Amino acid sequence: MTSSARLLTLLVLLLASLPGLAAAPPAAKPLTVYFFDVGQGDAALVVSPTGKTVLIDGGPPEARERLTRRLKELVREPLDLVILTHPHLDHLGGLTQALKAVGAKRFMDPGFDHPSDAYRDLLDFVGTSVGQVMTPEPSAQAPHTLLTIGLGEGASLTVLWPRVPQEPFLDNTRSDPNSNSIVAKLTYGKTAFLFTGDAEPETEAALLQKRIDFSSTVLKVAHHGGKHSSTAAFLAAVKPKAAVISCGAGNDYGHPTAEALERLGTAGARVFRTDQDGEVVAVSDGTSVTVRAGRGGSPLVVPGGLKPGPVALGPIVPNEPQGSRAASRGATASRSPADATMTASRAGAEETRFISLKGSKVFHREDCATLKRSKSERTVYPSRAAAVRERRPAEDCHP
Ligand SMILES: [Zn+2]
Ligand SMILES: [Zn+2]
Repeated sequence: MTSSARLLTLLVLLLASLPGLAAAPPAAKPLTVYFFDVGQGDAALVVSPTGKTVLIDGGPPEARERLTRRLKELVREPLDLVILTHPHLDHLGGLTQALKAVGAKRFMDPGFDHPSDAYRDLLDFVGTSVGQVMTPEPSAQAPHTLLTIGLGEGASLTVLWPRVPQEPFLDNTRSDPNSNSIVAKLTYGKTAFLFTGDAEPETEAALLQKRIDFSSTVLKVAHHGGKHSSTAAFLAAVKPKAAVISCGAGNDYGHPTAEALERLGTAGARVFRTDQDGEVVAVSDGTSVTVRAGRGGSPLVVPGGLKPGPVALGPIVPNEPQGSRAASRGATASRSPADATMTASRAGAEETRFISLKGSKVFHREDCATLKRSKSERTVYPSRAAAVRERRPAEDCHP
């Protein structure tokens, strides 16, 4: 064969292969969730198909160096959103240092107070250094819909819980901070991830009364595999194929418990544990999820098979009021942000001032819950016009 004949053959082969290439579906951009190995605590990073980043919890104080290092390796711009599911130390202990290192554009937490220095320090830091500080409040215009955050290429994060002020926080539960954890579902194509913080059985029961599609390919197991959470009824609704438990080796709490592991097994979920597997990384292409354990072992590939579409299956109405509970709230009632908001909005109709926290680029309504939770120095504007000349309106209270 002459060299020109060889070239021609090569060209023909190349051309012949082109229609095949063109017919193949374009590879979907991946969505990746890193369940960090932070010992006894939770921290997970979502990197969306378009590179948007969401950090859910920030591990215990002992893990702050490791969390900071991993975020610096994975994130090049300030985090788009940081969610603190609830203000317990095993979820927030590494956050302040990590956020100082990589920065953040938005911070969301459930919005109830918690008397700890670590939480106060975190709020002071985000109040001055993060552009928007918000709670997962349903939109005032559409209170019966779920708050959904678009992450690009059809990926989105929907907050299922809590829904204050539409519904009060759960109280008189095993742990009220745990019970009011932010619960959120991340969806991408036919795959989904459910993040449950330290949700308690009360949270799960309240959620199950709602018209929500809970089905998820991967479940971040509630409360480190504690024995009360992950009830059989809840797992039957979630139908996870893989479950990730974030906990420390030899922890004092006996996490994960045999009870939770057994229920997860019965539900058909393959369990990954950060105490044994190290960091667990789950990658979705919108059709299936590949889960890998940092300490080796063959990856698990699970088909999503979910029906793409809205997470809400209808209007999300408040659960039945629990009369006896509401009556027994006593001394804790005054610190309920739901009460505070209702009082404030009644007063707010007359005359509203606008407030900005020191170092922040945004301003809030005077009655905004964010302000009540920060001790930072503040600037008071007598009118909206005066405030808007210097700062942007905050997205939490829409002044
Ligand atoms: Zn926890
Ligand atoms: Zn907790």
